[in-house]
Amino acid sequence: MHHFDYRDGELFCEDVPVRVIAEEVGTPFYLYSHATLSHHFRVFDGAFAEIPHLTCFAVKACSNLAVLHLFGSLGGGADIVSGGELFRALKAGIPAERIVYSGVGKTEAEMKYAVKSGILSFNVESEEELLTLDRVAGECGGRAPVSLRVNPDVDPRTHAYISTGLAKNKFGISTGPALELYRRAAELANIEIAGVSCHIGSQLTEIEPFVEALGKLRIFIESLAADGIAVRYLDIGGGLGIRYGDEEPPPPAEYAAAVAAGLEGLDCTLILEPGRVLTGNAGILVTRVLYTKDGPEKKFIIVDAGMNDLARPSLYDAFHAIDPVSGKDRPRVKADVVGPICETGDFLARDQMVPESAGGDLLAVMSAGAYGFSMSSNYNSRPRAAEVMVEKDGFKVIRRRETFADLIRGEAVP
Ligand SMILES: *Cc1c(COP(=O)(O)O)cnc(C)c1O
Repeated sequence: MHHFDYRDGELFCEDVPVRVIAEEVGTPFYLYSHATLSHHFRVFDGAFAEIPHLTCFAVKACSNLAVLHLFGSLGGGADIVSGGELFRALKAGIPAERIVYSGVGKTEAEMKYAVKSGILSFNVESEEELLTLDRVAGECGGRAPVSLRVNPDVDPRTHAYISTGLAKNKFGISTGPALELYRRAAELANIEIAGVSCHIGSQLTEIEPFVEALGKLRIFIESLAADGIAVRYLDIGGGLGIRYGDEEPPPPAEYAAAVAAGLEGLDCTLILEPGRVLTGNAGILVTRVLYTKDGPEKKFIIVDAGMNDLARPSLYDAFHAIDPVSGKDRPRVKADVVGPICETGDFLARDQMVPESAGGDLLAVMSAGAYGFSMSSNYNSRPRAAEVMVEKDGFKVIRRRETFADLIRGEAVP
C-alpha cells in the first residue's frame, strides 16, 4: 500500500502533483510520502501488538532526520551500524534506550560514543569485538549491554549480496562458538548480557527462513538457560521483503503470526529491525529525461539521475518499475534507462518496458525509498539529489540538493 497514485493521468504523491514539486525543486530528487511511512510503521509495529516488542528501524535503509523523527514519534527505535547513524538517530530525537548497534566493524571511538550515550544493546559479532568492548566500556566507567549476533546458518533465498545468515557469510557467530562466548561474556566485568540477536538477510519473500532461524535461536536460548545465562531480549533482525515487481512477500501480519508462534513460551522482549519494508515503497526517485537515442541494438533513454543517485540496479541488478509522471497510459517501449555517469554499469533499468519518452519528460523510479538516497554518492562529482517529503497537500525539502561548494568542502590544495 502506498500513496503514489494517478489522478487524470497525473502522478500524485498524496494530494500533491509530482510535476509541481519537480518544477519547484528541480531534478533528480527523492520523494517520500509521510502517510505511507506512518502507515507502514503502524501496520508493521501493530502486527506485534500482542507481544512485548520494540521496532528498531534499520537507519541505513533511509537515514534522513525527518524519516527517523517520524518513526521515533510513533514509538520506534533505531538499529544503527555506525557512529554516524547513532548521531543521526539521537539528533532525530530517538531515545538512546531504544537504539541497538549492529555491524562487524565497530571502532573504539564508535563504541565509546555508544556506551556514553547509553544505548539498549550492542549486537556483537566476534570475540575480539567483545573483548575490545569490555575494555572500552571499562575506560568509560560504564557497562556495555550485549547481545551476541548468532549466525543460524539459514539460507534466506535472496540475492547473494544481501544474504547474511549463512555459515560462509562474514556476519555473526556460529551457535557452538557463540555458546562458549556467552560463558566468557558472563565473566567480563564491563559487559552485561542483554540478549541474543540475528539477521539473516534482506528482501526475503518467504516466511520459512525466518521460522527456521527462530527455531534454531530458540534451541540456542534454551541451552544458554541450561548454563544459567538468562537473556531479556531476542532480536530477530530485519529482512522482510517488499514488492518491486512481481514478488509476493508475506504481509507483516503473517510474518508476525509466524514469529509469535516461534516465540511461544520464551520470556523475552522481541526486537525487530525492519528497514526496507518500512520505507521501500514509501519513496520514489523523480528524474527528467535528457535525451533519447536509438543504438544499433537497443533504445536508450538518458535521464538526469544515475547510479550515484540510485545504486541498486548496478549493484544488485535490482528491478525498479519506471512510471510516467504525466500521461499514465502512455505507450511503453523496451529500452534501457541510463544515467550520465561514465560507466556501462550506470543504468536504472535494462531491457525493460518503460514509458515512451522524449527530452524533458519526467519519470518516476518506483520503490526507491530504501537503500536509495542512503547509498547515493558524489561519483563523477555529481551533487547528491534533494529529498522531499509530502504530507497531505503540502511538501517540504527535507534535504536540500547539494551544491558544487558542498562537493569540495573539506578539500585543500597543499
Ligand atoms: C540491513 C540490516 C537490517 C535491515 O534489513 P532490511 O532488509 O532493510 O529490513 C536489519 N538488521 C541488520 C543487522 C542489518 O544489517
